Amino acid sequence: MLGHGGIVVFDDTVDMAAQARFAMEFCAIESCGKCTPCRIGSTRGVELIDKIIAGERTDEHMAILMDLCEVMADASLCAMGGLTPLPVRSALPTSPRTSPGTPLRSTA
Ligand code: SF4
Repeated sequence: MLGHGGIVVFDDTVDMAAQARFAMEFCAIESCGKCTPCRIGSTRGVELIDKIIAGERTDEHMAILMDLCEVMADASLCAMGGLTPLPVRSALPTSPRTSPGTPLRSTA
């Protein structure tokens, strides 16, 4: 998984959806609140990932999450919001639980 400034390696027991959620949650907690894409986007990102994990309209929410990641990457004022989409994008598409239409399940 791509991190904010490096590559994070996990074994195959790690729940990548949970890691994606952690990255968004970290941004929501640490955001300074100066710009909207990071301040609001990260909170909405956590909500979207929770819905995806729960299997609520997975394809639709995944598309919205990817749009949100694009906005955060392009419009955040610093690397906190701008780079948060990196781990999210890199974690979710590689998760075996993210096949289109397949509900995600956290193993935690
Ligand atoms: S991207 Fe940077 S400036 Fe914008 S709210 Fe997040 S921490 Fe603050």
